Amino acid sequence: MASEERRKVLKSSVALAAGAALYGSARADTPATPFTVAATFIPIAGTTQQFPVRRIYCIGRNYAAHAREMGSDPTREPPFFFQKPTDAVQLVPPGVTVDHPYPSLTRNYHYEIELVAALGNGGRDVSPERALDLVYGYTVGLDMTRRDLQRAMGDEKKPWEIGKSFDHAAPMGMLQPAAKTGSFTKGAIWLKVNGETKQSANLDQMIWSVAEQVSHLSKAFELAPGDIIYSGTPENVGPVVRGDVMLGHIDGLPDISVRVV
Ligand code: MN
Repeated sequence: MASEERRKVLKSSVALAAGAALYGSARADTPATPFTVAATFIPIAGTTQQFPVRRIYCIGRNYAAHAREMGSDPTREPPFFFQKPTDAVQLVPPGVTVDHPYPSLTRNYHYEIELVAALGNGGRDVSPERALDLVYGYTVGLDMTRRDLQRAMGDEKKPWEIGKSFDHAAPMGMLQPAAKTGSFTKGAIWLKVNGETKQSANLDQMIWSVAEQVSHLSKAFELAPGDIIYSGTPENVGPVVRGDVMLGHIDGLPDISVRVV
């Protein structure tokens, strides 16, 4: 190839790469690949459309009583975040009890009931006043946790990954459009195991509201359509074993039902 031609080719691939960089790997054309990788979608209630998942962010210790039970001081800590892999989503349709595999390596497998917000718009440095404009919908989710592994890694000052970010670690219900549900700043949130109430609180006990979480997150990351936020769990997290059925509830959203197998 003549050097002039080579320069032109280089220039156009740089332009292509710059265009494709906007939201990670999103690109209009489909390249040839040696195999296919499944994308993650969540059905949207009342439509035939599905919500494409980009990233899953989770906020830690967002209810004072849960922060205390995890050994920290809820009055002094700014919100902190971790992520689960996108393909950790396990869909829990309404009216169905879904089988959820007990994961490997743990002997202390915990539930965390949480309000989940899904973003239909992105942004950077979003003010709390504007933040809810980014939210497309809400659902009920479980931030399933290999607590023994999370604690062991924490004790060693190593990343939590193995305790939080594993296969099927993010069960959640169908997405309910915010246009229909409105936003969630108060209302009962509870989890029962085998019919017995284990966690029970109110969304108004969150230290950081969904709007504040979106705002904080947008300072650390450029948020994009398809991002999902687990908004933290109230106190009284605890273990499940094979055979247990978890029923998760938030006022205004369909319950989710999950059997550990
Ligand atoms: Mn959590």
